[in-house]
Formats: sequence, C-alpha cells, structure tokens
Amino acid sequence: MIQVEEALERILARVGVLGDELVPLQRALRRVLSENVVSSVDVPPWPNSSMDGYALRSADTQEASTKAPARLSVAGRVAAGHLAERPLGAGETFRIFTGGPLPEGADSVIPQEDVTADEGTIAVPRPVATGDFVRAEGEDVRAGDGVLERGRLLGPAELGLLAAIGRAQVRVLRRPRVAVLSTGDEIADLGGRPGPGQIWNSNTYSLMAQIDEAGGDSISLGVAPDRLDEIEARLRWALDCDLVVSSAGVSVGEHDFVKAALERLGAEQHLWLVDMRPGKPIAFATIPSAGKRALPVFALPGNPVSAMVTFELFVRPALLRLGGHGRLQRPQVRARAEAPIANPGRRRGYLRVTLSVGEDGVYRARLTGDQSSGILRSMVAADGLAVVPGDTTVEAGGTVPVILLREIP
Ligand code: AMP
Ligand code: MG
Repeated sequence: MIQVEEALERILARVGVLGDELVPLQRALRRVLSENVVSSVDVPPWPNSSMDGYALRSADTQEASTKAPARLSVAGRVAAGHLAERPLGAGETFRIFTGGPLPEGADSVIPQEDVTADEGTIAVPRPVATGDFVRAEGEDVRAGDGVLERGRLLGPAELGLLAAIGRAQVRVLRRPRVAVLSTGDEIADLGGRPGPGQIWNSNTYSLMAQIDEAGGDSISLGVAPDRLDEIEARLRWALDCDLVVSSAGVSVGEHDFVKAALERLGAEQHLWLVDMRPGKPIAFATIPSAGKRALPVFALPGNPVSAMVTFELFVRPALLRLGGHGRLQRPQVRARAEAPIANPGRRRGYLRVTLSVGEDGVYRARLTGDQSSGILRSMVAADGLAVVPGDTTVEAGGTVPVILLREIP
C-alpha cells in the first residue's frame, strides 16, 4: 500500500499539459490563459476627463480665489467620443464631459459643481492643479506592458482587461475531455428502470460534475455490466479522450474486471492500493498510443463517497495539470475540532466535516455524521475533508488540517 503523496507524484509524473486554442473573449471565462499577453496600446489611449466639468490651463487659475475668481471664456465643447475642434487658448475653457479627450493646450479639469457659469464664461474660485481630474494617457496600461501571464485563470477582471486592450480573442488551454464509465451489474442508469437488485447510477453524475467544476469537459460512457468484454469495449470508445475515469469493479472480487480490461488495452498500471479511507482500491494506468501521448486512466472505487474523495485527491490535480492550471491543490486550513474527530481505522482518514468560522476568525470543524463510504448525504453536508492519521482521535479543541471543498459562508 502506498501513501497518498507518493501516489500523487506517480500520477502527476505521467500527466502533461494539453495544447491550446483560440477562443472569443465571451467564451473565455474560467479558461486558462496559454499566452503571455502584452498590450500593444496605451489605456487610456489619450488623456481624458474623469468628471463633467471644464477643461482649462491650470496656469490661468493660479491667482484665483473666492473673492477674485479667474474668469475664463467657454470656447468649445468636448463630449465623450468626440475630439475638440481646436486647441485651447490662454484664458479659455472648454466644456468637457466624463471620458471626453482633453483638448490640446488644456492640462486639467475643474468639476462643473465647483464653478459658477454664466453668459459664456465661468468663474473659477480657486487655483486648479495640473492634472486635476485628468486620467493620464497609459495610466492603466502602457503599450509594451506584459499584462497577463500564461497559466492564469481568466475571471471577469482579466476579461475586462483583455477587452480594454482590444483583444477580441485569446489563446487558452484546451479543456480536457474526460470520459466517465460506471460499471456494475447492479447499476441502472437514469432514464431506465432498475431491475431486481439494481440501484440508480449516481457516480456518473457526481464524477461528471466534479470534472466540469474542475474545468474539464465530461462525457458519459454510460454503465457497463460486470463483464470484461463490455468494459473493454466502452473503454475503447474513450481512446481519443484526454482522460478516463471509471468507477467500481476495481477491487479483488470475482466480478471486478476493470483492471483486466485495462490490461487488454495494453495499459501500464502505476498504482493500485493507497493508504486512505475512504478509498484504498484505486488504480491509475496509462494506455500508450502510437504518435500520441499515453492516455491516463483512473479506476476509482465504486462506493459513491470513495469515488468522490479519490477524485478530489487524485483526479482533480491531474485534470488541473492537463488544463494548464498552476495551482493543483485545494486550499487547506487548520480548524479546531468542536467535538472529537476520530479515525479508528489504520488507514489515513479523509473525514467529512462541516466548517464554520468563529467570532475569532478561527475555523471550527465537526464531523458530518456517519463516515461510511456509501453515505452520500454526509458528502452533501461536507465543507471539507479533515485529514487524520490512522488510529488517531483529534480531541475537542484540538486542531486538524482540513481540505476546503467549497467556500464557507
Ligand atoms: P465495487 O467497487 O464494485 O465493489 O462497488 C462498491 C459499492 O459501490 C457497491 O455497493 C456498488 O453498488 C456501489 N456502486 C458502484 N458503482 C456505483 C454507481 N455508479 N452509483 C452508485 N453506486 C455504485
Ligand atoms: Mg462491483
């Protein structure tokens, strides 16, 4: 039996980053940038007003006071999206609106509420400093600036910035195509009707969701019965995918054929039993293919929680690596146990906990209840997985590392 860390090392050593593609900006949210983006333009492209007001020469206002305001004649008008008709002369001001390009000759803006306007002139009651209410050319981005780097996850702000520098398309890493196969004579897929002794297929749906959430593009291979040829045939369908995830049939029972099916496909197996609970029987193999990178395959255990937790620990990092993410691990926090958190077995426990944040800002963890690997409802309740060594109890008040599965409100 090998340790989780060693298992992950073996996996990541065999998973490389996919190629890239060009996508329109509107389709780039949550994608991973595959280029280093350098701006070819200044943002803003020219100095412009940050207020509705009057553009002027600050020198004309240096002596101004409430008692003796500077009088300037309103000689033009610049709305946003329009240029001034001519340069501004001494003693003049142009009416200007937010976003309007500063006229040549002007160096500052005074907001309209700060002046008194009448009969084509304004009275400026104070000196205006050079640059007041002017957004300088290139103050956000300079032409030649590197603005975003390869590996960056694109969120709303990144997309806004790309648009601001005029990029309508962007190079992103391809989304990994991940095939999901459920196996088991007892598994009936949704839409069908369970026969005697059958249960609904839940793993396909939780795993596909985990894949999509991690930026993959999941594809269902349906449910294969516990038959070597059937499992092999379904796996063949997936040979042009980037990753395959199966569940169940990977133990040492007489009806466990997933490993044998992988062998038939020429797979090399890199690990099998891992020191963890839930989980343990999890196989990772690669299927070599001429002229292509080898296809990584995870054969996860069948119990719904075991499948989800082994996905978290092993498949998710591999998927993120394929997709070019820099950060492969979930954030981990230290939490205080509100009640004892016991891991009675010998294997390292990944125990489902709910988390809360106390007034003191410290995380508190509490077991979700029954930790059996078939109890999906305790997975629903789980905010994180507390990592507890074998045969260990974290007493109430003690601290425990917790892998965060979602944001804590
Ligand atoms: P196995 O790994 O084949 O021994 O399966 C372990 C347990 O997981 C059994 O009780 C199965 O019925 C259950 N199981 C396997 N596959 C699924 C699935 N797709 N959905 C729900 N439960 C499953
Ligand atoms: Mg089975």
